[in-house]
Amino acid sequence: MATVEQQLPETHNGVADGGTDIPVENPATGEIVATVPDLGADAVAEMVARARAAQPEWEAYGFDGRARVLSRAQKWLMDNAGRVVDTIVSETGKTHEDAQLAEIGYAGNAFGFWAKMASEYLGDERVKSSQILVKGKKLVLRYRPLGLIGVIGPWNYPLTNSFGDCIPALMAGNAVILKPSEITPLTSLLLAEGMRECGLPENVLQIATGRGATGAALVEHVDMIMFTGSTRTGTKVAEAAARRLIPASLELGGKDPMIVLSDADLERAANFATYYSMQNAGQTCISIERVYVEEPVYDEFVAKVSEKVRALRVGKPEGFGSVEVGAITFPPQLETIKDHVADAVQKGARVLTGGKQVPGAGRFYEPTVLVDVDHSMKCMTEETFGPTLPIMKVRDADEAVRLANESPYGLGASVFSRDTARGEAIARRLDCGAANVNDAMINYTVLELPMGGAKASGLGSRHGAGGIRKYCSQQAIVVTRLAMKKEVFMYPYKSRTSRLLAGFFKLMYGRGRRA
Ligand code: NAD
Repeated sequence: MATVEQQLPETHNGVADGGTDIPVENPATGEIVATVPDLGADAVAEMVARARAAQPEWEAYGFDGRARVLSRAQKWLMDNAGRVVDTIVSETGKTHEDAQLAEIGYAGNAFGFWAKMASEYLGDERVKSSQILVKGKKLVLRYRPLGLIGVIGPWNYPLTNSFGDCIPALMAGNAVILKPSEITPLTSLLLAEGMRECGLPENVLQIATGRGATGAALVEHVDMIMFTGSTRTGTKVAEAAARRLIPASLELGGKDPMIVLSDADLERAANFATYYSMQNAGQTCISIERVYVEEPVYDEFVAKVSEKVRALRVGKPEGFGSVEVGAITFPPQLETIKDHVADAVQKGARVLTGGKQVPGAGRFYEPTVLVDVDHSMKCMTEETFGPTLPIMKVRDADEAVRLANESPYGLGASVFSRDTARGEAIARRLDCGAANVNDAMINYTVLELPMGGAKASGLGSRHGAGGIRKYCSQQAIVVTRLAMKKEVFMYPYKSRTSRLLAGFFKLMYGRGRRA
């Protein structure tokens, strides 16, 4: 089988290297699997010029023409799924299953969804108005592509969270420059190569490899920025976007709570707590990061979760079925995980299973369950982004809701109860972008629903109508067909006309709200 380096395109968009090369490490082995250029501001500016030159032709493809390219890309992804999974695994150290389900599965669906739905979400809308002055006129709401979109992504999902946002931006008729994380640039380069094979015109999608400075340079040129990453960087990106008065859509960090009520199906709740806290080694923005369990079922729930977490295999992914929990992708993340566990233990928490870095090659942390936790501990209040699950006992649902909302973040949440009406009522009280009842994280796969964060978890959303309209400006078109020489309210002003208009307004608006 070809190595990842051999699979990569020979040139990186043909742009000269602006700085030192960036080594890409396999976190499961410590090996350097490839190097990519660290592009400087000049290189980004060149890419921008090429993107702007290429965009009008792409826009002129229309919805059908663009959908054909995306449909070919969907098939390309399925035909090359093994190669894409291997590339993702090589730069993230995640398991093959995590790469297949949450990355290939997501992107496969997204290519088809946006190809089909773009014309519905972005097609001209004929509008009717109650305003008497425009009676008989043609009123149209039109969406037009903004032009050039910058997408900046994190390292935890190189396909879903970096490349994934390019799909609707492209389908709306924009050119896109994607700045993937410097930790995981290879998947984006491979996908861009695939898109070219599928007939995407040259320079409509370009990959700007580089570190933070490359991302900052990109924000200085584009017409809109789609950012996914930490709240800290997202704030800087929002400030830079505000200075240029360009829109920014921000998908940021989270500390998702799970609430287990005493009437919950505990076996299901325990399976979901285990899977959705440990999946992708806990490195998902919408991972379950903390659990609140009603007192009567707390002991049984903790026993079930501990047993299930203890059974998980952690280590280097050697193919499908080899391990459940893969590597910690980003070196500093391991320090954060260790710090949160140490802080909790020092403040009185107990580790029921795990609690240590796995010795040996590669970067792994044991799947960990913490109890006797409270909100004085970082593991309950700050994003851990690792395979850890702190579980806290609460008196009742009200206390659970209060604690769940006691967070700067508001990305996702889940509630488990056999009484689905009660579960939904509690879900509606949670300050977050998405709440699942008797489920978790699944909302992300529903591309018809908006996905975005409340509070410090972000601004704007991906998916749904808003997830593609944000890549467009709105234009109002008014066409007057029956055109008289002038309108009644025009010059010269006459007191008789004004009295007539006053009477007219009174007739229209003077009776208050009609039933
Ligand atoms: P990060 O903020 O460190 O980096 C994200 C990207 O921003 C990288 O490509 C980085 O190079 C770039 N960057 C850094 N400084 C920049 C600057 N000044 N201007 C422009 N770009 C700059 O985040 P990360 O560590 O890569 O990702 C992990 C974080 O992402 C977690 O907090 C996680 O919750 C979040 N995340 C959120 C979602 C979501 O949908 N809400 C999805 C995935 C990850």
